[in-house]
Amino acid sequence: MKKLFVYWFVLMFIFAGPILFGSQEVEIKWSQSTMKQGETIRVDIKTLSPLQQGTLYLDKGKYTIFGVSYRAKEYRYVSYVGISRKLKPGHYTVRTDLLYMNGARYTQKKDINIASGKFKRQNIQLSGKKKSFPDRTNILSKENYYILKAFRIINRKKRFETPFIQPAKGRISATFGAMRYYNGKPYWRHSGVDIANKEGTSIVAPNNGKVVLIQDYVIHGKTIVLDHGLGIVTIYNHLSAYHVFLNQMVKKGDVIGSIGQTGLATGPHLHWGMSVQGVRVDPMYWVGKKNLVE
Ligand SMILES: [Zn+2]
Repeated sequence: MKKLFVYWFVLMFIFAGPILFGSQEVEIKWSQSTMKQGETIRVDIKTLSPLQQGTLYLDKGKYTIFGVSYRAKEYRYVSYVGISRKLKPGHYTVRTDLLYMNGARYTQKKDINIASGKFKRQNIQLSGKKKSFPDRTNILSKENYYILKAFRIINRKKRFETPFIQPAKGRISATFGAMRYYNGKPYWRHSGVDIANKEGTSIVAPNNGKVVLIQDYVIHGKTIVLDHGLGIVTIYNHLSAYHVFLNQMVKKGDVIGSIGQTGLATGPHLHWGMSVQGVRVDPMYWVGKKNLVE
């Protein structure tokens, strides 16, 4: 009878352990403690027992936590949190919700401060046939429907192992988050970075990925979208030509297209954008950053 009680106690400990001692067996590490609009934060999570599901919440954003590996008796998970250019600077509470395989739950709240991205103001004069742009909101919302759908792709397979590279050489003609004024009227904050160079300049994949969208749009021009896995998706607009096809797997450095000025563009340039689980971030922030990818 006494022996049975010991077994029962051991079993209780195994199943109830994560409930009773949940807080001690979780380690959550943030890649940086201070953050700005447009940046991406990597969150590493280690647990002693496996998770069924994990989610991070910041403002209205919801970020899936992905399983990475099981090493040294620890389960490792990762998530990327995109700090939107539209998120007002100030204090926020990030909630991390973990659901264990055995049904136990763990929640952690972390207070963070988001600083301004100090975005620039940019004036664009449209003339001639492109002047009619402000009336094209219907076309724009149609195009955005397909693009935003691609941005919400959440692929649990991580395709990137080494840092991102800049996809084209050229002059940065517009930075991420710049407030756009078309013919003196404010429109929106620039959702990517513009790299200006002559028509035909090669555009390469900044990292390994899969081509998930190829389309010729009225405003965005010839467009390619790459899925890099773990909710990281990149976009290329205004191309003069495509050098890939839909569903093709590309390696970092492979030529995917050429710089052009298709769609609404005032000169040949690549508009390069990045989405982190649906939130537009500054792609330049990822270039060369080892700690984000390894
Ligand atoms: Zn642009």
